[in-house]
Amino acid sequence: MLTVFGTVALDTTRTPFHTVERTLGGTATFASIAASNYVSTSIVGIVGNDFPASYMEMLKNRLDIRGLSISKTEKTFHYDSSFGYDLYKRTTNKTELNVIANYQSTVPKEFVDSEYVYLANNDPVQNLNLLNQFSHPKLVICDTMDFWILNKRDEVIKMINRVDGIILNESEARLLFKENSILKCARLLVSNGPSFALINKGENGSLLFYENEFYPIPGYPTETIKDPTGAGDSFGGAFMGHLCTQGQINSNSLKNAMIHGNIMGSFAIEDYGIQRLVNIGNKDIKQRHEKYKEILSL
Ligand code: AMP
Repeated sequence: MLTVFGTVALDTTRTPFHTVERTLGGTATFASIAASNYVSTSIVGIVGNDFPASYMEMLKNRLDIRGLSISKTEKTFHYDSSFGYDLYKRTTNKTELNVIANYQSTVPKEFVDSEYVYLANNDPVQNLNLLNQFSHPKLVICDTMDFWILNKRDEVIKMINRVDGIILNESEARLLFKENSILKCARLLVSNGPSFALINKGENGSLLFYENEFYPIPGYPTETIKDPTGAGDSFGGAFMGHLCTQGQINSNSLKNAMIHGNIMGSFAIEDYGIQRLVNIGNKDIKQRHEKYKEILSL
């Protein structure tokens, strides 16, 4: 079983074309929905008393939500961000931690023996506290973002030291090490503990660094982009989910998982919030996978 920990949020996303307010988002939401296409997935997190029942129902239909608590007194984590016409570079307007500010995560006893753990972008202290509760995880992957790199860099490094793999986007990787070359960033990530590092470059694809080799993979060409929010988490969730089905870590299983990560990221951006992700099935993934293989063949 895979357990995903991270934020379950209400997102306000502003683009020059459209604004969505307080729609279902959060790093654990995107990652776990993406992963659930490959493996049975449980989610650990917390929402507030303003979290719509319809969103809870939607999560329940796809995931094991026994680890998702509801606070009676506080509001759900809220993230407000804007994109310009490129729909790539994001500006954070507001990060309201609310219910996650003092959250003490507890892994339900049913998930303690999860073999696979995905620590989606979240407070690194909480991520480490959660990780310590698993009995014998076989594979742990984490993600992080600018907010935590700027506010808790030392704890981010401690978290990276405890995982098998790390996924970051290119600007976060540069920010973490104050380094321009993302290849150097990938090398620095691995020198801090994990056996592999993955750096996302949006529509330009992703870069894997594993056993002293770099593996770049181009992005899946997507013509319709409405909202890039959650693309990174969907990439991470699908990457982790696919890896769980492979049973071993090597350059081939990692590259194949990257392809599935890129496919899921390409779906995520085609609509606002999680709308596109919850409307795809195995047939859609398979179709895109076939097309991707065709594009990549030399
Ligand atoms: P991304 O995949 O990078 O686009 O992640 C987008 C998601 O990250 C949104 O759904 C937000 O709710 C969530 N998010 C934004 N800021 C934070 C933060 N500081 N910690 C955890 N989650 C966040």
